[in-house]
Amino acid sequence: MFNKVLIANRGEIALRIHRACKELGLSTVAVHSTADADAMHVRLADESVCIGPPAPKDSYLNIPAIISAAEITGADAIHPGYGFLSENARFAEIVAAHNITFIGPNPEHIRVMGDKIAAKDAVGKAGIPLVPGSDGEVRSYEEAKEAAEKIGYPVLVKAAAGGGGRGMKVAKTAADLSEALSTAKAESKAAFGDDAVYLEKYLQLPRHIELQIIADHHGNVVQLGERDCSLQRRHQKVLEEALSPALTDEERIKIGDTVRKAIEKIGYLGVGTIEFLYENGEFYFIEMNTRLQVEHPITEQVTRIDLVREQILVAAGNKLSFKQEDIAFKGHAIECRVNAENPKTFRPSPGEIKQFHPAGGPGVRFDSAVYTGYKIPPYYDSMIGKLIVYGDDRAHCIARLKRALSEMVFVGVETTVPLFMDLVDDPSFQKGDYHIHWLEEWLESHD
Ligand code: ADP
Repeated sequence: MFNKVLIANRGEIALRIHRACKELGLSTVAVHSTADADAMHVRLADESVCIGPPAPKDSYLNIPAIISAAEITGADAIHPGYGFLSENARFAEIVAAHNITFIGPNPEHIRVMGDKIAAKDAVGKAGIPLVPGSDGEVRSYEEAKEAAEKIGYPVLVKAAAGGGGRGMKVAKTAADLSEALSTAKAESKAAFGDDAVYLEKYLQLPRHIELQIIADHHGNVVQLGERDCSLQRRHQKVLEEALSPALTDEERIKIGDTVRKAIEKIGYLGVGTIEFLYENGEFYFIEMNTRLQVEHPITEQVTRIDLVREQILVAAGNKLSFKQEDIAFKGHAIECRVNAENPKTFRPSPGEIKQFHPAGGPGVRFDSAVYTGYKIPPYYDSMIGKLIVYGDDRAHCIARLKRALSEMVFVGVETTVPLFMDLVDDPSFQKGDYHIHWLEEWLESHD
């Protein structure tokens, strides 16, 4: 087992990882930018090292500074969290080259899954159903046109290197294709330095349903059920639930088996998420994330498994502490991503939290690193916490969520809590009747 883990991240996830380490009896090292010197994970960690100025490229993405911090403190493992360097295969290789364990999959798997064209090819061969699309990259307008005619309009032009919803353009008809192609390429080149694109059938009203898996070094793979992340704004998740209100037990077992067998074939290690679009009873793979996800706690609530603890244990070479037969889903969980933003315009609202009081009581968990007097820096993502609520069933969970939201106090900054208070009262949300465009339509009609 490790002795000391360096946490190469910030905010709530840095604290989440710190907590799992402490419960395993491990020492922690926090790294931070100058803007985060007063952060909670820095205060709680056993040691801390300042790795640079506020801009992520100079601190949380600064590989030499992070490796030096690990060397100086004698850390024997690095947990990358999510975002920043978590899906950077080169970083995973450099960590390993310094005889430090990267708490995550092998670099080859990060690399393959980070290229969406290669990822579709790899998981398709392992038996996972795909969105119909072009046969790999489309290199010219002519190739794109031919592929689009085969697939049928509307089509989606997607960047192979894409992430965060960038480099994605819809072509409703042949007349839009040329522009969609050049815009997606230009956007991808600017954001990722790579302009490879491919085509997919544009699904009209699907849900976003993703499966959590975890695998050890000994060939054991367990799937931990799905999360429904259909409530999105600008392709970004806003509220997630586990399990999905849309699936039957039969569908759940079938897709779970398919995914588990495929991951076994691929020989993957650690935690991972297989993302699908789901429409008319069919699943279509869109991408695999090779890291811990923001929304992992809802899976923890319905499976009663500590995913971060288990992720650290398997990285250290231990066998998974459970088998597939041990997994029984119980109750229902919902997560709301609380952002420091105006709840109508979504304009970021950084600054000092003059007063803070989190919701509590039965079935309520607030994963956050904020405190009264904390100054939210303007340099990073605006998510300041995740309200995670568990109930015996979905109706109970929603009733609790409503109660918990009404207890949240933030003075000094605006947050998205009022948005969730309106959302939980909506009859379609209460019925679980929504798709990936539903929230944007709802926001427009609630101006
Ligand atoms: P990113 O890596 O940029 O997040 P994804 O491939 O995961 O991109 O897709 C993000 C979101 O974009 C999905 O959750 C869905 O809302 C939408 N999307 C992606 N592919 C399709 C598709 N083929 N048809 C319709 N919507 C899609």
